[in-house]
Amino acid sequence: MTTTAAWLPAPFVARMRALLGAEADAFLAAYAQQPSGGLRTNTLKLDPARLQQIAPFELEPVPWCPVGFFIPPGARPGKHPYHAAGLYYIQEPSAMAVVEALDVRPGLRVLDLAAAPGGKTTQIAALLGGDRGLLVANEVESSRIKPLGENLERWGARNVVITNESVERLAEHFGPAFDRVLLDAPCSGEGMFRKNPAARDEWSVEHVQGCALRQGLVLEQAARLVAPDGLLVYSTCTFAPEENEQQIASFLQSHPAWELVPIPANHGFARARPEWSVPPLPELAGAVRLWPQRLQGEGHFIALLRNSASAPAASAAAAHPSPYRIRIKSERTQSLPRQTVTPIPVDAWYVFAQTCLTTPLPSDRIKTVGEHVYLHPADLLDLSGLRVVRAGLWLGTSKPGRFEPSHALALALTGDDVRNIIVLQAAEVERYLRGETLNQPGPDGWALVTLDGWPLGWGRRVKGTVKNFYPKGLRGKH
Ligand code: SAM
Repeated sequence: MTTTAAWLPAPFVARMRALLGAEADAFLAAYAQQPSGGLRTNTLKLDPARLQQIAPFELEPVPWCPVGFFIPPGARPGKHPYHAAGLYYIQEPSAMAVVEALDVRPGLRVLDLAAAPGGKTTQIAALLGGDRGLLVANEVESSRIKPLGENLERWGARNVVITNESVERLAEHFGPAFDRVLLDAPCSGEGMFRKNPAARDEWSVEHVQGCALRQGLVLEQAARLVAPDGLLVYSTCTFAPEENEQQIASFLQSHPAWELVPIPANHGFARARPEWSVPPLPELAGAVRLWPQRLQGEGHFIALLRNSASAPAASAAAAHPSPYRIRIKSERTQSLPRQTVTPIPVDAWYVFAQTCLTTPLPSDRIKTVGEHVYLHPADLLDLSGLRVVRAGLWLGTSKPGRFEPSHALALALTGDDVRNIIVLQAAEVERYLRGETLNQPGPDGWALVTLDGWPLGWGRRVKGTVKNFYPKGLRGKH
């Protein structure tokens, strides 16, 4: 018997020994190893080969994700300015397999039900291509909305709506409106024990059972949101059969119109274990388990389900498409009253767009909520009455006599989209990210501040002095 990490809860060790038999030693020994680190390329901004060339640390490809890389121990990609430019998302490697299973393609409507802090949301956004289709990123926990918003802002996608709702309310509101739904379920986090001591402190058999109960309720609601022939991925970062095989078995037994779609084998993937559910359903072997003793990753369970039901008459969302009303509950505009969004152009925005941008944004998608201006996704569903944090790309704020562009807009543009850019010299990068004023000659007005060609934020130049518009809340974080 090998030594196991002393901090592992004894009942957890006993359970896993009973489940894994001869493989338990290797599994438990993995908890004494360093957690695996990884990052995923933002293909909206560059391709993986280019990232590999420019990254200041070694990047080793992740076999199950064509845009993912392992990073060496000690690398600190979160501190590099390329992170501030949104060139990658720092993600545990086994988590990258989840969205790979979802078969996301440009033009689809996708719903990520448990989105914060945005690991899988950003991966979906990249696969959708940035401005095609629709991605609704939902997070029920209000305190987790801010990091989700910041991560999406850096990512630069234009077709993402952020909502702060329960899954049940979304199901009531939208009905079966989505081609793809991801339920990355809240779980007991046994795969997070190496990275997150809180997960192991919180663990108990009762906690596993409580998570399982909640997952069953949420999965039931999640299924209501999937269009006929649409796909749903259910995933967890835990090993407990109650939260994995048993969830899927009980779902399939009570939903005869649904089928499990086998996930193709990949490097180090193991099949799920039908014998861990009662009664054992042989098709459960189509789901996969990523184990830390078999691959470089913390561990995940992934099941892909298809809604084989025939199409109903009409979805709830399509049944009442207008008037277009959004209740914004934004991290910046708390509790605004209900407002009617009208197609009246915002003069300040158009003055800004004409003087600063070279690539126009589609005017039919420019909408206002109070003083805020948004670019709505082309394929937006009715959001009336939902708690919407962002309905698409926030373009900025109209202030008396001027328009102040948002950080989100800067990160969604390229140098070719604007009239003026400021190319940061190496010595200026840290200063800009700390919020310092810069001195650079050039035309007065808004300029996109860039690092090696990628935007970092805005600056406003007056007679060679560049006022820094890097958001105060992000300053000094790199
Ligand atoms: N998908 C995220 C990512 O890749 O970055 C991680 C999601 S985490 C595993 C699970 C999420 O479920 C948490 O953000 C949590 O707030 C949310 N959650 C908790 N209870 C929930 C519930 N009853 N319904 C839906 N989501 C819930």
